[in-house]
Amino acid sequence: MIYFDHAATTRVLPEAADAAYRVMTRDYGNPSSLHDLGKQAAKEVEDHRAAVAGALGCQPGELYFTSCGTEGDNWAIRLAVHLGRHKGKHIITTAVEHAAVLEPCKQLEQQGYGVTYLTPDHTGRVPVEAVEGALREDTVLVSMMLVNNETGAIQPVEAVAGLLKRNKSAALLHTDAVQGFLKVPFTPKSLGADLVTLSAHKIGGMKGSGALYIRKGLRAEPMLRGGGQEKGLRSGTEATPQIAAFAKAAEIGYANREKNIAYLNDLKAYTLDALQARVPGLTVVSAGDAPHICAVSLPGRPSQVVVRYLSDKGFCLSAGSACHRGKASHVYGAMNLSKQVRDGMLRLSFAPSNTKKEADALADAMLAATQELVAAGR
Ligand code: PLP
Repeated sequence: MIYFDHAATTRVLPEAADAAYRVMTRDYGNPSSLHDLGKQAAKEVEDHRAAVAGALGCQPGELYFTSCGTEGDNWAIRLAVHLGRHKGKHIITTAVEHAAVLEPCKQLEQQGYGVTYLTPDHTGRVPVEAVEGALREDTVLVSMMLVNNETGAIQPVEAVAGLLKRNKSAALLHTDAVQGFLKVPFTPKSLGADLVTLSAHKIGGMKGSGALYIRKGLRAEPMLRGGGQEKGLRSGTEATPQIAAFAKAAEIGYANREKNIAYLNDLKAYTLDALQARVPGLTVVSAGDAPHICAVSLPGRPSQVVVRYLSDKGFCLSAGSACHRGKASHVYGAMNLSKQVRDGMLRLSFAPSNTKKEADALADAMLAATQELVAAGR
């Protein structure tokens, strides 16, 4: 099997799996317990927090473990509107955010909030000028992802922070950095973000694990109330195996980040060249600013059919975000592409474990796909 779907999820790194296994089977204490096993678990959670914070470039006290990127996005939005409740009811976001941002925004619309959904250009990028045009006195939150999961486009989060500052806006800035963490260099401070969402399973950690950065000084609203874990802001017994795996994956990813970024950029460029050279009609819709994601189209060839064909030949890639489950992508829909191009969209996403040999094999398989599908009249 050849896997080009790393934006959907990644294989757990062996070292991360080992760390989780050790915590599940040997160091399995509850961090809230007062005996030695519990105290050791509590210390480990703090060590792991420091490791993830080190990779993100923030203070450990600014990082809260969550159950996933989706939770982090939901929490960030809830927190921002709570803090801004006396200032206004307007939110700015983009039409190409993950559903974990869009759905909470839609819910807030039903509760009387005004939400501006900024549309991208045909490359998937949302210009900072669009945020400038939408900013209002009563804007309490700008939520803009760092790297789009279906195009690899990098959004101008840092420029938006500058804009908010220049305008003396009270709006908080949230960025969903689930696809950006360890793929593009940034820290919350360098971006000027107040809230940053991470997810472990995109970097070789386990599913069901993530973190939210909350800038020091923000009076955060709890996500879950209960036993008071995570400084009372996110109750629930800490997911110690997942947290151990997250920390190990973040440590390894951080130590290798420059090498990995260079490798991924080279591999993506090679893959796009190979596909363009060998597959007639293939269009590169987004070469991706981020090193690991790009989007191509086989205009007129329905992507679901191509994905299924390639799956039968042993290739895993997708027609957009895994979360769409076959529904048309709102991201490609927002990009003003022709219907033919939109219907044929395919996302490729890479990890350092992918090779040029695999890219060549994919180009051959895509060529065969176009030929066989033409022959079959599809
Ligand atoms: N945000 C982005 C940009 C994503 O790509 C994803 C996952 O696909 C999420 C949020 C949700 O993360 P999780 O699967 O950990 O809930």
